[in-house]
Amino acid sequence: HEFERDHLQEMELLGNGSFGVVRKMLHRPTMVEMAVKKITLINNGPDDAFNKSMQRFRLEVEATKAASKCDEIVKYYGITFHEGVAWMCMELMDLSLDKLYMIAHDILKVDIPEEILGAVAVATIRALEHLKTTHHIIHRDIKPSNILLDRLGCVKLCDFGICGYLQNSVAQSVDVGCRPYMAPERLAPNAEGYDIKSEVWSLGITMVEVANGKYPYNGFMDAPILEQVRMVVYGDPPILNSDQDFSMSMKAFIAQCTIKDRFLRASFEDLKKTIVFKHYIGDDHKKVVGKFVFEMYDHRLRLPFADF
Ligand code: ADP
Ligand code: MG
Repeated sequence: HEFERDHLQEMELLGNGSFGVVRKMLHRPTMVEMAVKKITLINNGPDDAFNKSMQRFRLEVEATKAASKCDEIVKYYGITFHEGVAWMCMELMDLSLDKLYMIAHDILKVDIPEEILGAVAVATIRALEHLKTTHHIIHRDIKPSNILLDRLGCVKLCDFGICGYLQNSVAQSVDVGCRPYMAPERLAPNAEGYDIKSEVWSLGITMVEVANGKYPYNGFMDAPILEQVRMVVYGDPPILNSDQDFSMSMKAFIAQCTIKDRFLRASFEDLKKTIVFKHYIGDDHKKVVGKFVFEMYDHRLRLPFADF
């Protein structure tokens, strides 16, 4: 589907990420509301920077397009260019997981239902498996702000800004990703190529963060890089705080994802055999997830965007 910029009516801001702005827009000819990510391509730097930026951009579009067939990945609608900025149009979701848990924890002071964690786990596993088996892509940026939910109870992965192609199951570059969610084997001084097990760690950290209502390594964000590396590589893995009582099987699931030694950590195959995966693979929980997303979304509409 081809898009014309003039057909898109700008609505509210949805996200203000590292690589671009995401805005809700109305596609007037079809009256479909969509999410549009504006990606600015560097074109005034050295050739090398331009090539890198183009390459990353192409990969993001290709990956988003290709992966669209998967129910656990946001749908790609099309792209249009305007004044050197690419506008990537995609399916509109209601909230990202970071905003959902912040509203629940910081504002409404309500617990996150276990169904949210279960649905996030299943969606992430299925999306990553789809990416790996059908496109040989690794996402490399699993974290709450890249997981989207809607009022129907759907959970989907977005943001292929730093994904990479796998060669023999190992992605070549080790220097990309978001440090707070990077596995110990990637942060260690002798870091090897990126393998899919590192994604399991990021999922584990994401789940602990959502359950606890805050990022689990204390003081991480303000610490210098070496201290951050020390916390993850030599410190204890993060654990669930005891305020909220999750089921034994959920606790076990999370503990399997946050094992520091990647050879002992669960693989995606292992996770698919867990009680949690088998329980949340069906549609039974969708109502609970959708209702909770609706409540948080409803509250979000009453807050100024700057609060996030
Ligand atoms: P970045 O590369 O800047 O991290 P993302 O693609 O992750 O960009 O988008 C940033 C934020 O915008 C997300 O965390 C989410 O809050 C919001 N967002 C992105 N895509 C959508 C979408 N399809 N529907 C609703 N919100 C979205
Ligand atoms: Mg993002």
